[in-house]
Amino acid sequence: MAVPFRRTSKTRRNKRRTHFKLSVPGMVKCPHCGEWKLAHRVCKECGTYKGETVVEK
Ligand SMILES: [Zn+2]
Repeated sequence: MAVPFRRTSKTRRNKRRTHFKLSVPGMVKCPHCGEWKLAHRVCKECGTYKGETVVEK
């Protein structure tokens, strides 16, 4: 198995990790209440989907 010839410097390591970031998957603002919700799902805050109340509180 190949072994690294040199130790990776802090700069090189950190440069590699610039692509390593957290992503919030498919989050959109609810058009009804403005709360962040998952796309293509009923809003958990106001229970609406496509402008209709689907889940009553
Ligand atoms: Zn909502």
